[in-house]
Amino acid sequence: MSKSYHIRNGTVVSVDEEIGVKYNCDVLVENGTITAVGNNLKVPNGIAEIDATDCIISPGFVDTHRHTWQTQLKNVTSDALLPEYFFNIRNIYGSCYNARDAYLGNLVGALESIDAGITFLIDHCHMINSPRHSDAVVEGLRDAQIRAVFCYGLYRNQKWTGVAEGTIQDETVPDWRLEDAKRVKDKYFPTNSPDTLLRFGFAPAEVERYSVDESIGQLEYGRKIGAALITGHISLGKMDRGVNFIRKLKQRKLLGPDLLFSHCASLHDDELDAVREYGVSLSVTPETEMQMAMGPPIVFRAADRKCNASLGCDVACNNPIDMFQQMRLMLQAQRNTDNVAVEGVPTTISRKCHEVLRLATMGGAECVGLKDVIGSITVGKRADLVLTKCTSMRLTPVHDPVRALVLYANASDVDTVLIDGLIVKQGGNLTGFDWPTLRKDLLESSKNIIDRSKAAPLDEIKHRILTEKSAWLGSNLSAIEKAKQGAVPTA
Ligand SMILES: [Zn+2]
Repeated sequence: MSKSYHIRNGTVVSVDEEIGVKYNCDVLVENGTITAVGNNLKVPNGIAEIDATDCIISPGFVDTHRHTWQTQLKNVTSDALLPEYFFNIRNIYGSCYNARDAYLGNLVGALESIDAGITFLIDHCHMINSPRHSDAVVEGLRDAQIRAVFCYGLYRNQKWTGVAEGTIQDETVPDWRLEDAKRVKDKYFPTNSPDTLLRFGFAPAEVERYSVDESIGQLEYGRKIGAALITGHISLGKMDRGVNFIRKLKQRKLLGPDLLFSHCASLHDDELDAVREYGVSLSVTPETEMQMAMGPPIVFRAADRKCNASLGCDVACNNPIDMFQQMRLMLQAQRNTDNVAVEGVPTTISRKCHEVLRLATMGGAECVGLKDVIGSITVGKRADLVLTKCTSMRLTPVHDPVRALVLYANASDVDTVLIDGLIVKQGGNLTGFDWPTLRKDLLESSKNIIDRSKAAPLDEIKHRILTEKSAWLGSNLSAIEKAKQGAVPTA
């Protein structure tokens, strides 16, 4: 398949400081590499042309925090708080996926990302219920042809009375996932180098829920088997349990550029200093953090301190997989916070559109160790590119293409997407996939998961959470239930 294209006559928003924004500009891609950016490029004969008239050409979005498997659970937690999310998604629905569901979740989750202009994602996969599941989730990402780091998660979904056959395997000591992670690494990721589209990463079970020693043991195991990246949730704002994981890692001299932590709103200043000093990276997910009391999102504060900082969509069960939406929410929430903090009437706007666009592209590339490979339209980088069509009423006219991308465009405006020089979406349609057929499969899978979840013995699961898993989660759930009983119905 061809990976050489002459993309002609678009508005280039390069996110490269030297190139900036260029009008009536061409981008030349040869064998998947960007080889020239400029006006009226002379191109070698035989290179196929892509007409970018009325389009903004920008680097693909880099989503640095996602649980891709949750594709079938859309809207399930959109009115929920974090303890409710944990209880329902991580203890009930997560136990109801068979391997086929896991494959479809990751395949369609990756495809909907591409559809929305996301060309890279970190898949923090914490639904590995059996070795068949781990094969399935990797194959889902692979078949979608997205660029990604698959992070093998050690989280154990609950096996409760009545859970369907084939959806969850018995636990063993030591955890069978440890050996399975190594098998998956060897089978699918023999080189695991930065120039491969799909790389292997690792995700300890839930770093702030287990003891520090357990979490560190898991982290070191990930390093031992060759993970390109290790990811985990930490410092969850109002949900922070005072673990201060970054401090603990610093004390043991374990911080390094292979660590990518998500959320992080309640990091202390000394922890942010350590993050910068050791090249650790942060992923902020504005929508879930603001909804679920994990904020206020730290991304600008971290970027101001020269930390590697980026954005992610987190969970499709809560919000759409749309980085335009995350950029917009983050920018306006931060402006609001800053405006409120000023005494009297503000005299300068605190943050600009180009800052948040950088976080969603180049910032992400820096966070995942690919700053020389993706994240901007720069000669020598791989061609992960998005063409956003500006012919809709909403996008006519465009006086400033950066502001148009950040505050006006949405996923439905994405016309063409290239990943590694390969066209994966063109003319508004994904290439190589028949969505109506796939949609039928996904709807059936979704229905099966919901049907199986109805057998969940809620009291047994709650009891187990209280006694074995997390008294913290149990007490927060009880408080939410109490508040609901006392609430006046609104509908
Ligand atoms: Zn997460």
